[in-house]
Amino acid sequence: MLLLSRGLYTADVTETVPPPPDTAPRAASTQWRGVLEEYADRLPVEAAATPVTLREGGTPLVYSCELSEATGCQVWLKFEGVNPTGSFKDRGMAVAISGAVGTGAEGVICASTGNTSAAAAAYAGKARLTCGVIVPRGKIALGKLAQALVHGATVLQVDGSFDDALQVCRDLDERYPVELVNSVNPLRIQGQKTAAFEVCDFLGRAPDVHVMPVGNAGNITAYWLGYREYAEDGITDGLPVMRGYQAAGAAPIVRGQRVADPTTIATAIRIGNPASWDSAVAAAQESDGSIRSVTDRDILAAYRMVAREGVFCEMASAASVAGLLKLSEAGELTPDQTVVCVLTGHGLKDPDWAIAGAAPPPVVEADVDAAAASLGLSGAS
Ligand SMILES: *Cc1c(COP(=O)(O)O)cnc(C)c1O
Repeated sequence: MLLLSRGLYTADVTETVPPPPDTAPRAASTQWRGVLEEYADRLPVEAAATPVTLREGGTPLVYSCELSEATGCQVWLKFEGVNPTGSFKDRGMAVAISGAVGTGAEGVICASTGNTSAAAAAYAGKARLTCGVIVPRGKIALGKLAQALVHGATVLQVDGSFDDALQVCRDLDERYPVELVNSVNPLRIQGQKTAAFEVCDFLGRAPDVHVMPVGNAGNITAYWLGYREYAEDGITDGLPVMRGYQAAGAAPIVRGQRVADPTTIATAIRIGNPASWDSAVAAAQESDGSIRSVTDRDILAAYRMVAREGVFCEMASAASVAGLLKLSEAGELTPDQTVVCVLTGHGLKDPDWAIAGAAPPPVVEADVDAAAASLGLSGAS
């Protein structure tokens, strides 16, 4: 059953993968060094000893004029789509794969709706570890599958949901010498909490409200951990209200029960039994926040709205913006609050939705007048 080959790289991995050379920041260099180096003092030492990095993190916090005007708040978009493999999963994977190297694992495995496998494949490739990926059959976006394959992972499809795939991986982890790198791996959460640090470092404070999509619920757990650590150490003086959003057809936490057959166009949050369910509920409760749902229609509208403002996120990411707009409509925001919406992944991973509903570009003659007429230009000199 296990398809991970045990050939080439089972020797002492820490010897075959040289650590990156020291990169003490120089005045002339402004390159971000990745979460392991930038936040070394806040990450577990065992991972930092055998660092595997693609320089993840350091993602932009983009001010949204549209959303700020629509809500009366100052709305910032944390665009995680510009990570090395195009989602926030890279932050956690850098730390989890570093940890796997440190423990001498022969390979790593994960279940995935797409982005976890893309990140696992890339970081395992960098570390020269074998990588096995289990995905629900026919349910992962083509771009994400392409990433897992091009980085050399062995991809298996199971007839079942993400939740079934995760169960298979948990069982493999128990019985074979492989490391599970789903967000049930605590190193994933450690890596992902760095996004909260970046938000606070950039704003010079914690936001008042933090809005994000919730799938398996590892990321809301991670952000809440990060915000709390900064507050406990006196780096920030407040904590944000955490607002998590599931898709209406995949909203087990909102409903208070597992969803056997979750459905939503936001495939990255199509999860019926979140692994970090309890800690997501804790984050919402402790912060006076909530976990609610938004419909696919709301998500699609939000996706188009942020795209028009120059940020191309994937469908699941737009659940945060959809949620923000609902908070605003319900009068649950206070004017001038600082709000951060996390856009978890890049839209290019699944461009079908961008193209669907748009008219195909018209064909014109290679001629200035024809082009001008089709563009609606007038007043030529
Ligand atoms: C993984 C993922 C999510 C959901 O994150 P969880 O930690 O599973 O809640 C949301 N959006 C994107 C793009 C993802 O890849």
